[in-house]
Amino acid sequence: MALTVEGTCDTVELNVKRLYLPGLKLKSKCPNCNAPYERDLGDHHLSYPVVGVPEDLTGYCGGCEHEWALGSVVLRLSLEVTPADDQHPKEGVE
Ligand SMILES: [Zn+2]
Repeated sequence: MALTVEGTCDTVELNVKRLYLPGLKLKSKCPNCNAPYERDLGDHHLSYPVVGVPEDLTGYCGGCEHEWALGSVVLRLSLEVTPADDQHPKEGVE
């Protein structure tokens, strides 16, 4: 019988202590002094993110030393799982 993959996976714990996402930046403004705020996710990791579950973030402004609720982000993962046989036949197997 041919292998099939069934079901859906909406949430998964990545179990990654430090998830860096180079190329992504969060941008906002300090609500206290209006200074532009930027967080490079290539430098500032997410800790044990769970796919599909919003994570609350805190912003910090070094200019006026203000801390505020930045908002939340949710990690969405696009992942495809297919039987390998159809697309990548093993060498020597016809
Ligand atoms: Zn500020």
